[in-house]
Amino acid sequence: MNLVNSFFITRKEKPKEEKLVSASLLIQSGMIIKNDVGIYTYTPMGLKVLNNISNIIRNEMNNNYAQEVLMPSLVSSETFGMNKNNIFDTEMYRVIDRNNKDLVLCPSHAELFVNLAKNKVKSYKDLHFTLFQISNKYRDELHPEFGLIRKKEFYMADAYSFDSNESGLDISYDKMFQTFNKIFDKLGINATVVDANADEENGLSSEEFQVITPYGDNEVVRCTNCTYTANRETVVCKNITKLDTERVSKMKLVKTPNSKTVKEVSDYLKIHTDKIIKSLIIKVDDIYKMILLRGESQLNIYKLRKLVGSKRIEIPSEDELEKIGTYAGYIGPIDTTMEVLADSEVKYMIDGVCGANKKDYHYINVIPGRDFRVNKYYDLKLFDDNSVCPRCKNKCEIIKGIEIGQIFKLGNKYSQEYGLKYTDEANYVNYVQMGSYNIGIDRCLGAIVEQNYDEKGIIWPLSVAPFKVCIVIANVNDQFSFRYAYKLYDKLNSMGIETLIDDRKETIGTKFADMDLIGIPIRITVGYKLKDNEVELKLRTEEETRFISTSNIINEVVDIIEYNN
Ligand SMILES: [Zn+2]
Repeated sequence: MNLVNSFFITRKEKPKEEKLVSASLLIQSGMIIKNDVGIYTYTPMGLKVLNNISNIIRNEMNNNYAQEVLMPSLVSSETFGMNKNNIFDTEMYRVIDRNNKDLVLCPSHAELFVNLAKNKVKSYKDLHFTLFQISNKYRDELHPEFGLIRKKEFYMADAYSFDSNESGLDISYDKMFQTFNKIFDKLGINATVVDANADEENGLSSEEFQVITPYGDNEVVRCTNCTYTANRETVVCKNITKLDTERVSKMKLVKTPNSKTVKEVSDYLKIHTDKIIKSLIIKVDDIYKMILLRGESQLNIYKLRKLVGSKRIEIPSEDELEKIGTYAGYIGPIDTTMEVLADSEVKYMIDGVCGANKKDYHYINVIPGRDFRVNKYYDLKLFDDNSVCPRCKNKCEIIKGIEIGQIFKLGNKYSQEYGLKYTDEANYVNYVQMGSYNIGIDRCLGAIVEQNYDEKGIIWPLSVAPFKVCIVIANVNDQFSFRYAYKLYDKLNSMGIETLIDDRKETIGTKFADMDLIGIPIRITVGYKLKDNEVELKLRTEEETRFISTSNIINEVVDIIEYNN
């Protein structure tokens, strides 16, 4: 690609609205253009990077004997309607066609993969196999403000393995784990493997690949003592199991004017926040439920969703609360007719404080079970600074990350739901064991930039760079330089080394700044030393420049590329 006659744009000023460095740099370097919130266009330069990433993924999937397919993204809503526990529910884009048919834009293709597999699987002889695809998916994101990390239309590689039994699934899962590690290595991404299985003892394995960065949209819990690393949403909170030791007194109604929050009530009554039962009301599929937590604990929505089995969870407004006989800040479980779900920590509280469903009043000395009913105790709190490592009980730190991939053992969850069965050697009917494996390709692109940049711009790893080499012609009016530069450009491209030539009538300073901004790994400048048969070589990762003889420059470039492979 020569820059004259090409679609090439860079901008000096940082876009104001982007939170992430990667989004800013990708826009400044002209790799992407923002169309709308959560919607971007890849320019020719950006698309080259995206394709390089996809091809690395495709090659490694092929090396792991996964076969590629291409499925539609626009499908009938019935495809998803069958799945009652559909976790995407409210984030799914729905489309009505001219015949009034209800269609959806797929947020996931799990259902389609199962249906596809049904075309083949009848007997144990039809297993094992693995399929994958690279395509767009759609999600009506609640917070699409993280550049390429949270797009509404996103590009993804997703694979599914199909095995006859659990040991087969274990092998498929382990192989894909290795494949993912190879992919991220080749992409130049330093990925941290994070446990995403909420139930260590019973649940099926699931791991996430996260890029740790202060600007991530995900939270990761990392133990300061052992190797435990997990997604904050899924960490089991090992709660205190000892009863509070206080005198057991009778429940009493007390005035607590203008004390609504846990902190305000604690200050007013001069008691520790741990003594307060925080009560919340939520609406699950239009039914009110009360949630109880201890003190300043936060509700873990992910765990709540798992418990209630629905994604449609709403928080009622203050007006709505008054209609059902309570007040924001004064909600409490005494005499409620709602189902009460409490975090396990609440079970061990004695002489607690809770709202009285009456403005400016709380109850003190309350005891769960004695003064109010709890329908179910469950691990409902979000892991916080007071929580400890579920493995070794030591302190953990909460850090941020960008999730770029996830692998799960689905077991027979989907195959049972959609009837993907086979007959085994003894003629018994069994359900197929499935594994699911996803890589967010836009996310990888964003994450690579998050991990590889400096004040001048992006520093692409050679494996994904839009061009490996850029040739800068210092003075395009000098015919000698011009002809030599083009000869070198043609030679490198003919050798399969993708090379860009900056033949614009710009100052050398502008050209260098642009090449640094777009992050081309190897820069060759054809300038005043050409008369001595020398050109200047500089790597984007180094400050130093070297003069190399024209007879040696191609070997030098080949050596650098081979060394980095
Ligand atoms: Zn630990």
